[in-house]
Amino acid sequence: MTTDCLFCGIAAGTIPADLVHDDELVVAFRDIAPRAPTHIVLIPRRHIGSAAELTEDDGPMLGRLFAVAADLARSSGIADGGYRLVSNVGDRGGQTVDHLHIHLMGGRAFEWPPG
Ligand code: AMP
Ligand code: ZN
Repeated sequence: MTTDCLFCGIAAGTIPADLVHDDELVVAFRDIAPRAPTHIVLIPRRHIGSAAELTEDDGPMLGRLFAVAADLARSSGIADGGYRLVSNVGDRGGQTVDHLHIHLMGGRAFEWPPG
């Protein structure tokens, strides 16, 4: 855990969040400023700064993370209509919290490419 990291605090339970999933590898919670009717943030429990820091050793965690995202999409009722998974990296990628996360967004249509 990185003590000054917001998402490490949510994973540790010291910062409140609306959790929708919690296991030994992955935590998921509702985004505090949702940009879509369904907007969930999925994080590894362990601190990783961004997708730029991933290695092959992170395969099991990433498999869990994407499987949980698919489960949450189904249970949220957005799976059939389609949805978006996105991970912003660095300043120009739009990353504002430096702990790897995947946005699960659905319930409306999205444009491509994103702005
Ligand atoms: P990004 O901008 O890709 O780094 O995504 C960070 C996301 O975290 C944004 O969509 C924020 O709205 C969200 N966020 C920031 N603080 C919190 C919080 N305390 N609880 C839930 N989501 C948060
Ligand atoms: Zn962290």
